[in-house]
Amino acid sequence: MKRTMIAHIVPETESKISGWVERLRDSKYMIFMVVKDRSGHIQVTIEKEKMPEIVKSLEGVIAGSVVNVYGVAHLSEYVKMGGIEMIPTKVEVVSYAEAMPITDKANIDQRLDYRWIDLRDDAKRFIFEVETVAEMAMREYCLQNQFIEIHTPKISAQSTEGGSEVFKTEYFGQTAYLTQSPQLYKQMAMASGFEKVFEIGPCFRAEQSFTSRHATEFMSFDVEMSYIDNHHDVMDMEEDMLKYVLKRVHDTYGDKIKEVFGVDVVVPTVAFPRLTFLEAMDILEKEYHYPKKDDFDPESEKLLCQYAMKHYGSEFVFITDFPFANRAFYTMQSENGNSKSYDLLWKDQEITSGAQREHRVQQLVENIASKGINPENMKGYVDFFRYGCPAHGGYAIGINRFVAKLLGLPNIKEATFIFRGPNRIMP
Ligand code: ATP
Repeated sequence: MKRTMIAHIVPETESKISGWVERLRDSKYMIFMVVKDRSGHIQVTIEKEKMPEIVKSLEGVIAGSVVNVYGVAHLSEYVKMGGIEMIPTKVEVVSYAEAMPITDKANIDQRLDYRWIDLRDDAKRFIFEVETVAEMAMREYCLQNQFIEIHTPKISAQSTEGGSEVFKTEYFGQTAYLTQSPQLYKQMAMASGFEKVFEIGPCFRAEQSFTSRHATEFMSFDVEMSYIDNHHDVMDMEEDMLKYVLKRVHDTYGDKIKEVFGVDVVVPTVAFPRLTFLEAMDILEKEYHYPKKDDFDPESEKLLCQYAMKHYGSEFVFITDFPFANRAFYTMQSENGNSKSYDLLWKDQEITSGAQREHRVQQLVENIASKGINPENMKGYVDFFRYGCPAHGGYAIGINRFVAKLLGLPNIKEATFIFRGPNRIMP
């Protein structure tokens, strides 16, 4: 007999359900067993005297076990749970559970130790249902706009940005690195004439960061596009895409997100404000008496988001034209010592960085030298641009950070299926 999802049970019809035993209450005459699957839960009512076979088959079953229940569901005003109960004719035990090692009071680290049990919670699973729709919408937007999906290697002899924040690995007697981003290869696709590409894939960062927004491995949505005039073309695309993605998420899950997480999914109706780095620093100083610094810190990102909401009614704000000193060597410089770069802030945090890239070989070589990077390490990358390459730019959104912000989660760990941090490489 084929399984029926609990939410699709038709009363007074013979059916088979399969799922977890959520609760089991054994009283003198009755056993009440709540069975749960992804679609919902139902009470299974067993009259001990009438059903000795079933009582026997439930021996050793505790919450967490997996069962098949055959029987007929009846509507009943006495049953609190959905006004329906199932009277079984047969129960099969598919898997016996041991006593649960964590309770719902466990702290985040204990929960991550037993992540597979932690994720049995409906609200936690819902995070990944939302992520699925958000990623689908990003992909859908790209396909509708003639982007090509690429899959770049995650093991490479060249490290993206040099520096120490890279995991080294041994590769048949040679040193290889886990890629910090698809940056070099998505740019290579521009030199191959792909014109518009995107990738959804993992990035690895050997950073000892113990913040609520950093992981050592995270998923990134990356875009690169050719024939742009400057970084504003890249921002235009990202803004349009995010409006599309938020509308898709809102239309699919907006009500449920409100119900489960108490958060409104706001589909932006206004243009995202664009403040230059210098304007933003002035605003921080004048409006918030915040001392000028070389770069933004979490507190200043929060204040800039407040400013954007107050003056533009926007949850999003682009900060553009960072000093070249603050950005990676592959960023295109502008005339005034700044760069054609931007960050996008949302709900108090940076979720994206983007830029026009340097595609002129001579300038690229100078950038590498000015950042003190060993040119030998960048030779393969610079070669991408020696044989002709269009002007191009792109951006990256950290998907886990995006989802955490979308749902108002306190930590990126909650928005990551299996979190990786400096102290965690298991399970
Ligand atoms: P941050 O300043 O927050 O450390 P970054 O400037 O190093 O980020 P980029 O390298 O530009 O970030 O990466 C682009 C996007 O990828 C970021 O805006 C963020 O959404 C995400 N991201 C970057 N580093 C991490 C990380 N360690 N864990 C999770 N997401 C990250």
